[in-house]
Amino acid sequence: MIEKRLLEETLALAVSYLEGLPERPAGARDSVEALRARLKVPLPDRGIDPETVVRELARDADGGLVASAGPRYFGFVTGGSLPAALAADWLASAWDQNAVLSIASPAAAVVEEAVSDWVLELLDLPRQSSVGFVTGCQMANFTCLAAARHEVLRQAGWNAEASGLFGAPPITVIAGEEAHATLFVAVRMLGLGADRVIRVPADGQGRMAPGGLERALKDVSGPAIVCLQAGNVNTGAFDPCEKLIPLAREKDAWVHVDGAFGLWARLVPELAAETAGIEAADSWATDAHKWLNVPYDSGIAILKNEAAHRASMVLAAPYYIAAPDEIRDPSQWVPESSRRARGFPLYAAIRSLGREGLAEMVRRHCRQARLMADLLREDPRIGIENEVVLNQVLVRFLPENVEGDVDAFNRKVTALVQQEGTCWAGGSAWKGRAAMRISVSGWPTTDEDIRVSAAAIRKVLARTPR
Ligand SMILES: *Cc1c(COP(=O)(O)O)cnc(C)c1O
Repeated sequence: MIEKRLLEETLALAVSYLEGLPERPAGARDSVEALRARLKVPLPDRGIDPETVVRELARDADGGLVASAGPRYFGFVTGGSLPAALAADWLASAWDQNAVLSIASPAAAVVEEAVSDWVLELLDLPRQSSVGFVTGCQMANFTCLAAARHEVLRQAGWNAEASGLFGAPPITVIAGEEAHATLFVAVRMLGLGADRVIRVPADGQGRMAPGGLERALKDVSGPAIVCLQAGNVNTGAFDPCEKLIPLAREKDAWVHVDGAFGLWARLVPELAAETAGIEAADSWATDAHKWLNVPYDSGIAILKNEAAHRASMVLAAPYYIAAPDEIRDPSQWVPESSRRARGFPLYAAIRSLGREGLAEMVRRHCRQARLMADLLREDPRIGIENEVVLNQVLVRFLPENVEGDVDAFNRKVTALVQQEGTCWAGGSAWKGRAAMRISVSGWPTTDEDIRVSAAAIRKVLARTPR
């Protein structure tokens, strides 16, 4: 059987890649030109055998791969893939299930039902909520806000799905100054206008200030949506939902929470204060491909109002024969129609670690972030810009000559850390100042990886002139 040999060879390629991860430079080695020269071959007229295709793809792509699945990749909030999740993802591809309708794959549909129950329990959110499995938090924000748009306009006597927004009562959208960029893309795609969003000032850690929200809501009457955040991408800080949600409720506003990675703090009792009150929101968007460490693409939209969720996403066609009511059709809860059966890797990730294992992973990453901050702070030329409340560490490098351009110096050191290759961390800007951002979110990261990485960062700084 042709597949057998091909898949065995592919297995060997994958295993050798994974085994090499700890020794591999954390960033890509090759230049974009080198990659183009190898990969951008003329469109072939004739095909070649699949083994050659796969072998050459692995060879030609290798230098352009980023070791984001490895133990010392601290870029963005990129978790790796838990072994069980990776294996289940392979099966999802081999099975090639279309998780559109339950009749197209009853197994995919039932697995989504199971994961949906587990996620609500893990995150301790209202158990009757409906859940959509989307491609990432960008689309989770979109899905949640589409339901919000439906509901706030329905209450104002308007059917957004049937009549669109022309002539509709205006919706006031409020978000924090530090809301994630994808939230504004969602707002834009929903026709709510990114520039119409009222931005509420944030405190020094990026948390929305309750006084600011109060002022923003003061003159609001009519349909309103308030967007809060659990886990700032720079600082890890949480908007204080316990104080903010009651303010929004006074105006009958829909409350949405973007908790791409921060929502998983709900797993850890020691972090309960950070997410207190969050369960009182109407919708929550989160990622599974970040802190839950499943392969891309995997985001989760959670809606307390099942009817609004359904009404904003419903898909109908003569050949879409809906399942009997007792089984959930996956595509009725997401913007997609045909879709990957991304429930399988989620199912495997959650089963393989269990509630305790997942909590332990989140707790460990937070502890490792504090360890990283402590080790870096030992160097007088390194400042930690944030309170390390979660898994994010914001680093500011100080040149010996403080007269110089400190921002340019920070960008330079960050680039040199990336080139050095022991670990990878990205550049960022915080309160208008350049910084390096470290996110600890990969399952294979050990304390030793943190020590080795902190030492490498300090060594790079020591030999950077100025
Ligand atoms: C990463 C992130 C997003 C976007 O998620 P994607 O998975 O990239 O679509 C949204 N909000 C926050 C706070 C994030 O960290």
